[in-house]
Amino acid sequence: MPPRANSPAARDAAFALHPYTEHKAHRETGSLIIERGQGVRVWDESGKEYIEAVAGLWCASLGFSNERLREAADRQMRKLPFYHAFGAKAHEPMIELSEMLVQRAPVPMARAFLANSGSEANDSAVKMVWYYNNAIGRPQKKKIISRLRAYHGVTVASASLTGLPANHKLFDLPIAGIFHVSAPHHYHGAEPGESEEAFASRLADEIEALILREGPDTVAAMWAEPIMGAGGVVVPPRTYFEKVQAVLRKYDVLLVADEVICGFGRTGAYWGSQSLGMEPDILTCAKALSSSFLPISGVLVNERIFEGLAEGSSQIGTWGHGFTYSGHPVSAAVAVETLKIYDEMDVAGHSRQVGAHLQNELRRRFADHPLIGEIRGMGLIAAVEMVEDKATHRNFDPARKLGARLAKLCEAHGVIVRGLANDAVAFSPPLIITESEVDEMLERFGAALEAFTVELRRESLS
Ligand code: PMP
Repeated sequence: MPPRANSPAARDAAFALHPYTEHKAHRETGSLIIERGQGVRVWDESGKEYIEAVAGLWCASLGFSNERLREAADRQMRKLPFYHAFGAKAHEPMIELSEMLVQRAPVPMARAFLANSGSEANDSAVKMVWYYNNAIGRPQKKKIISRLRAYHGVTVASASLTGLPANHKLFDLPIAGIFHVSAPHHYHGAEPGESEEAFASRLADEIEALILREGPDTVAAMWAEPIMGAGGVVVPPRTYFEKVQAVLRKYDVLLVADEVICGFGRTGAYWGSQSLGMEPDILTCAKALSSSFLPISGVLVNERIFEGLAEGSSQIGTWGHGFTYSGHPVSAAVAVETLKIYDEMDVAGHSRQVGAHLQNELRRRFADHPLIGEIRGMGLIAAVEMVEDKATHRNFDPARKLGARLAKLCEAHGVIVRGLANDAVAFSPPLIITESEVDEMLERFGAALEAFTVELRRESLS
């Protein structure tokens, strides 16, 4: 139904150019307009209540209300609403946040650089890798390995690292020098009968073959999310990172962990790197860093990278990179308070416990459902994928857009999930969610799935 004239929906359709939206369809259908939030729930303009099963965009880790974060922002707004960090200027919130991030890193890290989004963090890290290799006299070592189905952002370099068609087609991306290897998804990628370990070995061999084909002295780094998020909540097969890292070390290729979704407890450890056995040289984070109450992101670099950056900047006279809002004091103050809350609530322990409940309940309730092919995830991140043929793992015709339709139907049943490729829907609720709220979320999802099953049966009869 087209939106009413002059309603918020009509004004939205008339004036807002939305991120990640099909513009022509949006002109007709308008948006779901969210008005307020409390805990794990949000309410739309008509007063309808939803459980936010993806924490917005996998990010509002402390939910949609928090007095301490509001007060931290208010205090900092009154004291010093803005100052920058260029040319060796600093202020307490950015110092405290940098210190806290370095102290909490999954492997020894030397410095934290602050930016405003996951995309900016990854673009910054790409430039650090290039700068580092120039500074230490390896100007030819610049190529980067990423993976199909990866998500690293939408700015020019980070979108190039992303391995999803919609981020490349019509944008003239990826840029040169970025190579995508196979996604580590056993359910779809393994040969019949191939074990997780054997699949992991094959994927590591693929990376080694790529490095040898391009020349080890030209390959600088590999990017990886511990668990792929937007590409489908792909948990890599057992032994994957162990084998991949052995290859990377052999050819002196850096590992960059994109912890934008997995960082700060999502996987049941403080960092996804710890859950998956990654030892990155560089780590990017964002989203839950401030519980998304204000935009902020970080790049952690180890001593070796920092020394290279320091060497280069002494040659040039400065390190020519940084954003007006790098370390913005209000965002940084909110992030500091967020990290203090994580410590107090033991965010990883809570996520491990409630996450185990989520993973068990998803499987108990839906594993035998005729539409559900795979249920995957770890901690408080999960996906269920619908398939046409459970034996061969064959998906439905993508033109039928079943995942997107199920996600829409979930909204009608009072739960917001995220539709992903291959008819998967994602769960990544606020990390404060309780077991009983998980149950309520899955009740609503189950009701939507039942209604969808009936709808599909009717379609196949008509
Ligand atoms: N990396 C990962 C793993 C992400 O999930 C995202 C966002 N979904 C990004 C990077 C980009 O972050 P942003 O949207 O803040 O630029």
